[in-house]
Amino acid sequence: MNAVELQGPTDWAGFRRSARAMMQAGQPPDRVSWRQRGQPQEALWADVGADGGADAAAAVNPAGLPRITLPAALVALCENLILHHDPGRFDLMYRLLWRTHQNPKLARDPLDADRMQAEAMLRHVRRDMHKMKAFVRFRPVGAPGGDSEPVHVAWFEPQHHIIEATAAFFMRRFAGMRWALLTPMGSARWDGRELQIGPPADRREAPPADAGEALWLTYYAHIFNPARLKVAMMCKEMPKRYWPNLPEARLIEPLTQAATARMQAMIESEGTAPGPAIRSRAPAAPVLLPLQVIAAEAPTTLAALNSAVRRCQACPIGAQATQAVCGSGPLAPRWMLVGEQPGDEEDLRGEPFVGPAGRLLDRALAQLGWDRSRLYVTNAVKHFKYELRGKRRMHKTAAQREADVCAGWLEHEIALVKPRGLIALGATAARALLGWPVAVTQARGTCLRRHDGLPVWIVLHPAALLRLPPNQQAAAFSAWVKDWPAEPA
Ligand code: URA
Repeated sequence: MNAVELQGPTDWAGFRRSARAMMQAGQPPDRVSWRQRGQPQEALWADVGADGGADAAAAVNPAGLPRITLPAALVALCENLILHHDPGRFDLMYRLLWRTHQNPKLARDPLDADRMQAEAMLRHVRRDMHKMKAFVRFRPVGAPGGDSEPVHVAWFEPQHHIIEATAAFFMRRFAGMRWALLTPMGSARWDGRELQIGPPADRREAPPADAGEALWLTYYAHIFNPARLKVAMMCKEMPKRYWPNLPEARLIEPLTQAATARMQAMIESEGTAPGPAIRSRAPAAPVLLPLQVIAAEAPTTLAALNSAVRRCQACPIGAQATQAVCGSGPLAPRWMLVGEQPGDEEDLRGEPFVGPAGRLLDRALAQLGWDRSRLYVTNAVKHFKYELRGKRRMHKTAAQREADVCAGWLEHEIALVKPRGLIALGATAARALLGWPVAVTQARGTCLRRHDGLPVWIVLHPAALLRLPPNQQAAAFSAWVKDWPAEPA
């Protein structure tokens, strides 16, 4: 018997190396045993040292080892299957590889029992990863008044060894945040630059409920629609074993119990007349809807304004985006730069103009000799609107009524930041700032005036240049730089 010791539950490199050595040595599955370092050794293996696989390969076939080639899809399947918690997964993986090497036709047999078992196990792993992405709830640790950003900590109980594989998703999604994901099977920590995978954690290391959670519960109770309640479907989508770590789970029972009565009351109550449609704003009267909804008084500081923007639910884009992207830069700047809406990268990082359009903007500023840190940079629309194409989030222009709602935020931002001039990047920004539609390709490079007297320079949006064929980009860039005002930031 050949015993192979792996470095840990997901030691794919070790498994792959040893499996290749075993196959080269002609060792069939029933002659190979797999175990993880630190796990008790069965009596049968007692005399076989670690990495017995390499020794066996050398002993049986010291030179001219045969080349092992296997279908890439099968190797990829095994690479994911190793994340399953079943201790027998290594045997199954090796059996699949061995049998397919002996009989390559097996790769095309969807009814092969080993193959079917592997695929069923893989579905469980994928489902666990999906649930982890959906049900992780972070709570901030560290007082907001402290000198460093809080760490957002979440406790989760996965069924499989999925921490490292899923951490990449959270890294992309919360790139600008410091976070820690604690689980009984391992932990992942992100400090904004580096991901560290660590040992299992204890539930007591995770923080208790906080004020943000009360807000989340209020929101959850408000969006709960008794008329659409389907208990069996809800339990399938949100299995009960995840409930202990989901704050909203404690609302499910009272909400479901009250659902029938609430629905009956809805049926019996009089219909409500639709409210007035939100119209495009008149230049002198910016729409203040979000502030009216969220706060009785207008915020008097930028921090208070930004906090209200982050809670805005006045249009549906907010629910889709990761977060609201607020403006950034100094108060009372020479110029406030206004873009259209955050893109994919901005949405993930919570900063305006940090994606491809932002990089082009930086090139233009460098050429103009402007210092970006002296500009206040923001957007007309504060959330990323997109449509999913496969896994890609494709930019979608905000509807006019959505831009109108956000215009209220922008007006307050201008009032608090107090720039001496505005630069509109593209048509959405120009319309939000001036209150009337502007033909940007004709007006580019000119300065218009707002109702409050502030100058508004019209400049093409950088994304318009990025969409051009590569052979036109250099000339368009040179022309674009000439649109900008002569007075630097
Ligand atoms: N495009 C914009 O209009 N704004 C951003 O922040 C990024 C891309």
